[in-house]
Amino acid sequence: MKNAPAIWNHVDANAPRMAALADAVWAVPETCYGEHRSVKLHREALDELGFRVTQGVAGIPTSVIGEAGEGGPVIAILGEFDALPGLSQEDGIAEHRPVEAGGNGHGCGHNLLGAGALLAASAIKDWLAQTGTPGRVRYYGCPAEEGGGAKAFMVKAGLFDDVDIAISWHPESLTDVMGGGSLANTRIDFDFHGRASHAAAAPHLGRSALDAVELMSVGVNYLREHMPSDARVHYAVIDSGGIAPNVVQAFAKVRYSVRAPTLRAMSVLLERVKKVAEGAALMTETRVEPMVISAVSDLVANTPLIEAMQAELARLGPAEFDEADRRFAEEIRATLSDEDKADAYARFGVATPDERPLCDFLPTAGGTKPSILGSTDVADVSWVVPLVQIYGATAAIGTPLHSWQMVAQGKAPAAKKGMAHAAKVMAATAVAALLDPSLIERARADLARRVGEQGYESPIPDGTEPPIAIMAA
Ligand SMILES: [Zn+2]
Repeated sequence: MKNAPAIWNHVDANAPRMAALADAVWAVPETCYGEHRSVKLHREALDELGFRVTQGVAGIPTSVIGEAGEGGPVIAILGEFDALPGLSQEDGIAEHRPVEAGGNGHGCGHNLLGAGALLAASAIKDWLAQTGTPGRVRYYGCPAEEGGGAKAFMVKAGLFDDVDIAISWHPESLTDVMGGGSLANTRIDFDFHGRASHAAAAPHLGRSALDAVELMSVGVNYLREHMPSDARVHYAVIDSGGIAPNVVQAFAKVRYSVRAPTLRAMSVLLERVKKVAEGAALMTETRVEPMVISAVSDLVANTPLIEAMQAELARLGPAEFDEADRRFAEEIRATLSDEDKADAYARFGVATPDERPLCDFLPTAGGTKPSILGSTDVADVSWVVPLVQIYGATAAIGTPLHSWQMVAQGKAPAAKKGMAHAAKVMAATAVAALLDPSLIERARADLARRVGEQGYESPIPDGTEPPIAIMAA
């Protein structure tokens, strides 16, 4: 490409190596704090590229940080590499066929997320070296985005204290710069302790922990009528107290996820859910012990960075795909419902969906960008560092996240093109900030205004360790 900014060329030069990394991570799908092979692959790539590497930060063995450059501002590029349980799937086919029954799979595209972020970081590293610009780029290899909230622990450990701006992305089926908003979320276990007894011979001597779990569900389901409309509460019974109906269950454990659009609203709702648990314990004469597993905040947008990234996306234009990419995307789309396809556009605030199989265009959303009605641990970084992210089109339009279709497309040529496209936008946004210190100043001022006087308080209670053993169990 003539007159292409140097940073795009640096991305192109590093793209094959990072495509290989994405494929290698896809092939070893590991979940929540168990990403030992995936982090090793990232570490090897960082070493090979000449980053200064630290593995195992914030007490998390599957985290890795690589830094390059000298002096100047610090640009953080956030990557992930965790997979999801139950989503094992062969690649390159448009039918549901697990590689391993019940196995893991990269249903959220994090094999691309990590490699694409490292692609941007490596391009920035090369650009810094080539131009002699003062500045540092730091790749954060963050595990356990799905359910473990590693970044919130990394923020609490102070690992972002000297960062000037942070940039990331997420694979999707459409391309767009992300706005703000996501749900703050606390995962919390309630352990109920009762008293075992013979359920027929001495029922009056037993105190059922399972009854307490059930009554807590009833209470929480009544609570739903009286909570903020965008709040979410869901639960999974982790331990129902055994398989013998003739033994009164002495122990039971239920895991709740409590979400709300703001950290404050989430904290208020969490306290109410805790009261319901206490009520259930009171009714059953059991004892309840709540224990927070992980917690994340809501995402804070940053207008100056969104505008800067938007300008870089406009300069680059949409991702480009070829006929073979489109053919495979059509096959995948044949497995999706009309609702899936319409929802893909709705998530981006686009009113008029069309029939194109891949996002080789820039969708025009009307008005403000919609919030994510899910949660992400990127949010905690956004409270302490000005942060911006882009959705990169790596899959057929309408592909739901956390689906076998997402896994099936995770190694496709189109996915690599979408990944490199997102990396160019991320790297170019970093270069814009390195060349114009006033952008960083404006981004910081915007963050200070949004965070307000209350400041940021980690949603993770003091003394809570990353739930590595709990999640691995
Ligand atoms: Zn994800």
